[in-house]
Amino acid sequence: MKKPIYFDYAATTPVHPDVLQAMLPYFSEEFGNPGSSQHYYGWVAEEAVESSRTKISSYFGLKPYQVLFTSGATESNNLAILGYLKDKQPGHLITSLIEHKAVLQVFQALELKGWSVTYLKPNEIGIIDVEAFARAIRVDTLLVSLMMINNETGNVTDFKSIAHICKQKGICFHSDATQAIGKLDLYRCVDLPDLVSFSGHKIYGPKGIGVLLVTSSINLHAISLGGGQERGLRPGTLPVQQIVGLAACFDLIPSLRMAEQQIKMYKEKILQELLGDYVLNSAENQSVPHIVSISVPHVYWEDLYRKLTTIAVSNGSACNAKSQLPSHVLLAHGHSSDLALSTVRISLSYLTKETDIDFLITTLNQQVFNL
Ligand code: PMP
Repeated sequence: MKKPIYFDYAATTPVHPDVLQAMLPYFSEEFGNPGSSQHYYGWVAEEAVESSRTKISSYFGLKPYQVLFTSGATESNNLAILGYLKDKQPGHLITSLIEHKAVLQVFQALELKGWSVTYLKPNEIGIIDVEAFARAIRVDTLLVSLMMINNETGNVTDFKSIAHICKQKGICFHSDATQAIGKLDLYRCVDLPDLVSFSGHKIYGPKGIGVLLVTSSINLHAISLGGGQERGLRPGTLPVQQIVGLAACFDLIPSLRMAEQQIKMYKEKILQELLGDYVLNSAENQSVPHIVSISVPHVYWEDLYRKLTTIAVSNGSACNAKSQLPSHVLLAHGHSSDLALSTVRISLSYLTKETDIDFLITTLNQQVFNL
């Protein structure tokens, strides 16, 4: 079977060959446990982990101890929110209706424990409005969690203004930056939220590795118990090869940023040349070029996806795909369930070629818009 052309880089990316090369020695040659402090094998592994930690921390202008390794953004989000609130009495929290489930479900669980949560709605172009955010703050607001870039629409949140307001008010700010690494300018960024989560597999790294950055002196508590790894905040044997792979991704960022202009041109071409009737979910001047989300009215989503066998696109986040429920993000945009399901999210990469884009446009015009 000929594989469909991949346009789902927001779901996951292939491991870059340089990243793979960096990882290989740590599978079987240098296989030690970084916690084995008595011998050579442990020292080599520990050195690999610590130099990776230093590389990642210096990218963000942080100290190495401010980087905690986790299994991915889901765990980082859980650790950030639950770990910060662990020793606090229930008060008020702010998040949004367009967060990833790995944030929303945590807040829903907190509500059951007596916390009061404000879920901000996106504005008419699908953006979380800073003024609406500021209005939602209460005297008892303890934590805010708002993502940097939405994974379904590519819409960008003005996290710097939000960080500024939170700092002034002494509120802890967590941000899910999973889609933002290598896309927004976070190099030595001075306006980072207190807690920042991301995963390796969205930036040409391996799956099953993530980071939680703790950028300020807030008090974080462990949510799982075990050995004392990661300052006791995230116990468990460190996956050395994944960590080395994730650090290697940071060397790719300059070239990823350089490819952005090309990706921007592709996005413009798609929007210019799609001839049918569709609703654009990606805000025109406030979304990254890598994601184009369109919803197609009057087309039943199963018919739509039955026809799209030569291109790999999605109608929501990969985490929702199996449930075949309409995307909560697009419902929050005000779409009906049918319109939300009839959505095509196209996500692009430096690996996308112009011929792929031409094929995508022709396919969508013929198969979806029947032109
Ligand atoms: N947050 C966002 C914005 C994401 O896009 C994803 C992956 N779809 C996650 C969190 C979860 O990442 P992981 O599955 O690697 O834990």
